[in-house]
Amino acid sequence: MPQPRILKITEIFSSIQGEGLRQGEPTLFIRFAGCNLKCSFCDTKYAWKQGHPYSVSQVLDEIKKKKQTYPAQWICLTGGEPLVQDIADLVRKLKKEGLKIQVETNGTLYRTLPVDWYSVSPKPNEYDCRSEYREKAMEVKIVVTQNLDLESIRRLREMFPEKTPLLLQPQSNRKWSMELGVKLLEQSLRAGVQNIRLSVQLHKIFGLK
Ligand code: SF4
Repeated sequence: MPQPRILKITEIFSSIQGEGLRQGEPTLFIRFAGCNLKCSFCDTKYAWKQGHPYSVSQVLDEIKKKKQTYPAQWICLTGGEPLVQDIADLVRKLKKEGLKIQVETNGTLYRTLPVDWYSVSPKPNEYDCRSEYREKAMEVKIVVTQNLDLESIRRLREMFPEKTPLLLQPQSNRKWSMELGVKLLEQSLRAGVQNIRLSVQLHKIFGLK
């Protein structure tokens, strides 16, 4: 008899979506364990560890339980990097539950999945990104790291169509990063970079997960 697929998960929780254009919307979260990158500025390094083993049906049971007290319409699959693992079966079943699916990815991996919202955040120094996201990304989050400059922003603007917003997201809402974000926004405007805006991690301001 085939064994059920086991997913490695760091945590399952409910909160608001704190980042990007869906900011403020009630959302259920599955944080997958593991990431194919190791960014020095990562604010979820705890998700690099092994995580807890869950079968797909155990995840679904947990989500159904959470939905009883927090009936959010959206679920966000995040990490770590959620696409390191084969999440196709889970995504299809979450969809059958009527949930809208958001995937937060660093953009280096792609799987064909029935996803409603890809939030793509390519990472320095290479800012590598799979070509599929050129059309599929609903937003591109750029973490304002110490080395972020206008050239990298321009590169990212060229990588995605102008209709896709670029969001400058300060690194963990730190003051230096916010100040740099404002400076880079002004530089970008003067350089003719289109559809770019400032952002913030709203959940941290509210003291939420
Ligand atoms: S890609 Fe994201 S989750 Fe992975 S190490 Fe970088 S910041 Fe952390």
